[in-house]
Amino acid sequence: MPLRVNLRHLEARDLRLEGEMPAAELDLEIRDEMIRAERPLKYDLRVEELHHALLVQGEMEMILDCECVRCLKPFQQRLVLKDWTVHVPLQGDDKAPVDNDCVDLTPFVREDILLELPRHPVCEPGCAGLKKFSPKTRGKQENKSAWAELNKLKL
Ligand SMILES: [Zn+2]
Repeated sequence: MPLRVNLRHLEARDLRLEGEMPAAELDLEIRDEMIRAERPLKYDLRVEELHHALLVQGEMEMILDCECVRCLKPFQQRLVLKDWTVHVPLQGDDKAPVDNDCVDLTPFVREDILLELPRHPVCEPGCAGLKKFSPKTRGKQENKSAWAELNKLKL
């Protein structure tokens, strides 16, 4: 269900929008390959009309599927926008497009979700990253001892 406000419904009273929006509709273009947003966005918003603008306030939440930048472990991160507020002008140069008396809030939501994405997702604050593992050194050591064995045989 698109996140739309019907202005006619707003004339009488404030509106409450509550529900879920599929991630596909939110259409986030995430450039970070460590973050995937494929789960629905939950929202609970209150909309009022104020001086030829919409004032939208409420909470949004989305579970992200991330990969830790340090240890590459997949993990989930809950993205919560508490007390989210957006002011949508209905007049003037930056007025929001109105289609069939409806204003689509999706672009505003999309923009703010993108801003709130973790910059470097880490599975836990103290993640130590990949364990130091150097097969090269170990191989060298094994070779060395193998040569030592050969030398012993020659003697
Ligand atoms: Zn990690």
